[in-house]
Amino acid sequence: MDRVHNFSAGPAALPDTVLERAQAELRDWQGRGMSVMEVSHRGPDFMALADSTEANLRKLLGVPENYRVLFLSGGATLQFASVPLNLAPPMSGADYVVTGNWGRKAVSEATRYLNVNVAADSETTGYTTIPDPATWAVRDDAAYLHYTPNETVYGVEFHSIPEVSGAPLVADMSSTVMSRPIDVSRFGVIYAGAQKNLGAAGITLLIVRDDLIGRARSDTPGVMDYRVMADSGSMWNTPPTYCWYIMSLVLDWLREQGGVAVMAERNARKAHKLYAAIDASDFYSNPVDPACRSWMNVPFSLADPELDGVFLAEAEAARLMNLKGHRLAGGMRASIYNAVPESGVDALIDFMSDFEDRRA
Ligand SMILES: *Cc1c(COP(=O)(O)O)cnc(C)c1O
Repeated sequence: MDRVHNFSAGPAALPDTVLERAQAELRDWQGRGMSVMEVSHRGPDFMALADSTEANLRKLLGVPENYRVLFLSGGATLQFASVPLNLAPPMSGADYVVTGNWGRKAVSEATRYLNVNVAADSETTGYTTIPDPATWAVRDDAAYLHYTPNETVYGVEFHSIPEVSGAPLVADMSSTVMSRPIDVSRFGVIYAGAQKNLGAAGITLLIVRDDLIGRARSDTPGVMDYRVMADSGSMWNTPPTYCWYIMSLVLDWLREQGGVAVMAERNARKAHKLYAAIDASDFYSNPVDPACRSWMNVPFSLADPELDGVFLAEAEAARLMNLKGHRLAGGMRASIYNAVPESGVDALIDFMSDFEDRRA
């Protein structure tokens, strides 16, 4: 069976060549007569893979020397709890900016461990805007400031790093990491689950500045403690080795494509043509302020919601899959991560135009 165009929000599409290589190496990893799943994580072969994954990641994102790169479990969701446990003493405070449901979930987890101040929240606009950073109610004594550069459900993305003073910036980059170059030195902590732009669900990337390691509360579980995980090369426990391997293949693919600057050009082009098609039509609409529309997740609705089911059924018949919007947002959502080729976006735009001609 031929591959479809997959617009899933996550777990999301992987590059074909990554899957082909994983398939080719499944039973015999580079001549060892075993799969990568069947070797010790502490053996020299897997250690070499771990080292080269980190080196590639550092090169691709330009991670400075004074940052550690960790490979963790538990997804971005576990970091909602790990961040406060690692960065803030009990009863201290941290600032959160909420521009969608993931930021809200981060707040609700952090509230168990510290005093959370929601410095800004765009809920009143239905999460279609980003409040001007100049209006954020940040506190001088906050342990950190947390935000979500791309909100996956509502399709709201920061196109620049907010200028705020003082506290280290902590970013949940799950649905935008590797989609464009970023200045890592502006952040205290960056984390991302892998299943959008980095590979398969089960491994979490964490980039943390040296001086923020070693501050964890004494009751922090070892697997959540940045010091413990950094000192053990992310191998204090058995890491998700297969997911680590898949990430290594995705990073190889990214380098072959030309790196994140090339991805950014491609992603901007993909997103702009899809938004242009939506804006040019009276039948489709996207509610997000054009200044903060996501390059990765493009929600849209049909003028007549009665046609949603027909739209989805016909899209599937045309092999355009997973376009149903998140239950919180309704309508449709096309997630167009790195691994979704421009031809997939072109096919979607053609389908939408044809559907509108026939059904509107
Ligand atoms: C998908 C996603 C998450 C949740 O990731 P899990 O791996 O399920 O923990 C968190 N934040 C953002 C921005 C996401 O896109």
